[in-house]
Amino acid sequence: MEQYYKDFSTFLRAYFPQKIQKISLHAGFTCPNRDGVKGRGGCTYCNNQTFNPEYCRTERSITRQLEEGKKFFSRKYPEMQYLAYFQAYTNTYAELAALKRKYEEALQVDKVVGLVIGTRPDCMPDSLLDFLESLNKEHFLLIEYGIESTNDATLKRINRCHTYADTIDAVERTAARGILTGGHVILGLPGETHADIVSQAEELSKLPLTTLKMHQLQLIRGTRMAQEYEERPQDFHFLEINEYIDLVIDYLQHLRPDIIPERFVSQSPKELLAVPGWGLKNYEFTARLRKRMEERRTCQGKLFGIEK
Ligand code: SF4
Repeated sequence: MEQYYKDFSTFLRAYFPQKIQKISLHAGFTCPNRDGVKGRGGCTYCNNQTFNPEYCRTERSITRQLEEGKKFFSRKYPEMQYLAYFQAYTNTYAELAALKRKYEEALQVDKVVGLVIGTRPDCMPDSLLDFLESLNKEHFLLIEYGIESTNDATLKRINRCHTYADTIDAVERTAARGILTGGHVILGLPGETHADIVSQAEELSKLPLTTLKMHQLQLIRGTRMAQEYEERPQDFHFLEINEYIDLVIDYLQHLRPDIIPERFVSQSPKELLAVPGWGLKNYEFTARLRKRMEERRTCQGKLFGIEK
């Protein structure tokens, strides 16, 4: 099959020839954009309803969450190995000793062979990187930064309470330690044009990123953004599926050819999602994306470094 873009499963197979599955964890961390250290109220698109400190305190242990995840997947694939995915909230936001305890607990679970840690770019002190650098020598490790946009005006508008300079700094410091470094962006944020979004791919390509997750802007009920949308719908443009597919292709064409796009869409639970309700599974989206790339006879990086 022709390669339209770098394939994440192929990338993982280079590390793990056997089957590998990520298990998402809620490790009970909070977020500095909610507790007042960086900001209050969180990013405008973030679902405040799920943030509940009581819930964090009573969260099941890391071990239990992993064992439950393993039980689910191992029925079909007994040989499966796992990556513990510290996904919810800001997973580097705690005292170093507490962070070490949680990461090490995950790695002690049988068949857990590595960690993926999601965090904000302004939450990666050098002291933690020292620890992660040594952990990386023994285990698979991928740090995933919420970049969301390369445009500071957008970051301000969505109340991220960090700048793109923070992203550059964190990504460069992490990759310099030899740690796999990934990013996450949202395509279609208010105030960003098609051209702005596509030029983001060129900007991000200057960074030492190994992987990149992208997804469409989703409006989640109960968020500040949902309220803003009600007040000023003209500020938003929620993309139709075909429009989004073409945007992703334009983006991929300008992305450095060796960056591995890990995913292109996200699907929030129906009861939380206001728009857009595409109802497409990840594999259905990628099938349509590939078909369209074939029609357009293009591939990742085709226009990389070429002025638009
Ligand atoms: S999106 Fe992440 S950084 Fe923003 S408020 Fe939610 S948990 Fe915090």
